[in-house]
Amino acid sequence: MNNHKIWLSSPHMGGSEQNYVNEAFDTNWVAPLGPNVNGLEQDLESYLGQDAAVGALSSGTAAIHLGLVLLGVQAGDVVLCQSMTFSASANPILYQGAIPVFIDSESQTWNLCPIALEQAIVSEIAKGKKPKVIIAVHLYGVPYQIETIRAIADAYQIPILEDSAEALGSSYKGQKCGTFGDIGVLSFNGNKIITTSGGGAIVTPTAALKQKALFYATQSRDDAPHYQHSAIGYNYRMSNICAGIGRGQMEVLDGHVALRRKMNAFYQDVFSDIAAVSVFTVPSSDYFANYWLSAIVVEPNLEKGIHREALRLAFEAANIECRPLWKPMHLQPIFQQYAYYGSNIAETLFENGLCLPSGSNLTDDERDRISAVIQEFFNKHD
Ligand SMILES: *Cc1c(COP(=O)(O)O)cnc(C)c1O
Repeated sequence: MNNHKIWLSSPHMGGSEQNYVNEAFDTNWVAPLGPNVNGLEQDLESYLGQDAAVGALSSGTAAIHLGLVLLGVQAGDVVLCQSMTFSASANPILYQGAIPVFIDSESQTWNLCPIALEQAIVSEIAKGKKPKVIIAVHLYGVPYQIETIRAIADAYQIPILEDSAEALGSSYKGQKCGTFGDIGVLSFNGNKIITTSGGGAIVTPTAALKQKALFYATQSRDDAPHYQHSAIGYNYRMSNICAGIGRGQMEVLDGHVALRRKMNAFYQDVFSDIAAVSVFTVPSSDYFANYWLSAIVVEPNLEKGIHREALRLAFEAANIECRPLWKPMHLQPIFQQYAYYGSNIAETLFENGLCLPSGSNLTDDERDRISAVIQEFFNKHD
């Protein structure tokens, strides 16, 4: 029997990526600028709508860092950040010498808990430092509580840096994720819904702000014939080769979203008669998720031997990659010293949650193998 590894999320080429890459070679645009970079930015701008201005960068992490720079974050400033996320949401706070303060999740979207968020704002203001930025994440492609979080941000006049790295193709009430923040962030890392092998983008509300982002991203070169700099610069622009892959991937983005959603429907079906497991889905029809990763919560039953880790090991034994949810930042050694507001929602999700193979390129045979492991595990532990 074929027992090749089934991955959580692997690159899925559409077919025309190489044409764009070849064009870059043929025209010698082998540089961190060129027609593919401009083309990818235009594709993203028309995809996102809302007059978004998009700058293609070397990674999503670079986009978060530049977002903080553009929003004026400096050493010693407080930045609020969703705790349950990938560390790349939070690391750039430290790059700026700023102070991260972590916020719990709510149980519906697994994203920023509005109550904990407001507590953090009030309490940090009372301590003498009004938070400079709120970093909000759409975990696994499920939008955060857009309106509630925006109302809090506006009430205290704190800008939102929208980490939409996992949510390209998701939307809320018809508006695309990436366009809700004062600045938005996308990622095209190899495991994301579309990839440029590695890359990201910053989404800004105006062309002027995009120009400012690109100024910082290309070493902050002042207008002079010699190299002249009056601000700290970064080398964060996307390569024209990578952007060629991205242009090809944009042609298949909506198809990939449909296939990832099909994987989520597959899991809803497989787990429909397994009471111990709930599949993570959107709270209402206002939310449209790309389901970048399909995730489940396993209600532990130690007498029966049912818990998240036992199920993960059963998948591992069948050569199927699954992973616990993101370990919250306030539990990470590198961030342990910083303040945290909330209770144990994120922590409990981390203990009982599992991400399952979710790629747009999974086959019927692979789905059969996944489903067989699940049936066998829950038959055995019934
Ligand atoms: C992937 C990811 C990032 C970082 O993007 P890179 O392109 O890998 O630098 C940031 N935030 C979240 C939530 C992510 O999943």
